[in-house]
Amino acid sequence: MSAPIIQLHQVHKSYGQGRPALSELTLRVEAGEALAVLGRSGSGKSTLLNLVAGLDRPSGGSVVIDGQRIDRLGEAALARHRRERIGMVFQFFNLLDDLTVRDNVMLPAQLAGMPSPRAGARAAELLEQLGVAQFATSFPSRLSGGQRQRVAVARALMNEPPLLLADEPTGALDSASAADVRDLLTELHAAGRTLVLVTHDTALAASCATRTIELLDGRIARDVQAVAR
Ligand code: ADP
Ligand code: MG
Repeated sequence: MSAPIIQLHQVHKSYGQGRPALSELTLRVEAGEALAVLGRSGSGKSTLLNLVAGLDRPSGGSVVIDGQRIDRLGEAALARHRRERIGMVFQFFNLLDDLTVRDNVMLPAQLAGMPSPRAGARAAELLEQLGVAQFATSFPSRLSGGQRQRVAVARALMNEPPLLLADEPTGALDSASAADVRDLLTELHAAGRTLVLVTHDTALAASCATRTIELLDGRIARDVQAVAR
């Protein structure tokens, strides 16, 4: 069996005093899974995603992603982890408003040192694939929420990360756009991407997840394999 893509061992995270955001959390995710993370507000969902992404470090325990232990990496190595292994999609898109759609999508590759012509060609290809090629030279503010999220997904895929993380990707969308993004994520998973989705959108979890965990006070309260569809 191949190595898991995510291996968290007794991960602990506290922010100062008070109840920890995550408590002794152990979790193994295999390549090809689509994991939905549920749990009420404050249960630790975003903290979990941020630790996997290398946006933050645990207070204790170990985080191994795609074979590399990342919890003790320095800033530069963590930034490289994020660039090479992680694609991330946020509730509010996090696109840069003063860059065109194409420049937003090219950015991760340029930060990784890819020459502009190649990055431009790959961005064009991704925008085409995700059905938003006609907006390449527009600014994000011209696009609907669903279109912006498609652009954000293109950006997340730019460096071909083995792992795609999404934090409430349909949370800020109207129902038609949400359905659109749901279909997109479902297609990406069908094409072999490993996904971790924090979501309150039960339709998203139902259409795409192969497994669901529920967090309660920073612990895994439930872990169920979805029935094969
Ligand atoms: P969720 O995404 O499930 O709503 P979070 O992971 O954002 O939960 O938060 C879990 C707990 O950690 C909450 O009690 C929250 O207030 C706390 N927390 C999260 N981020 C920070 C932070 N940067 N500083 C202090 N406390 C935080
Ligand atoms: Mg959150």
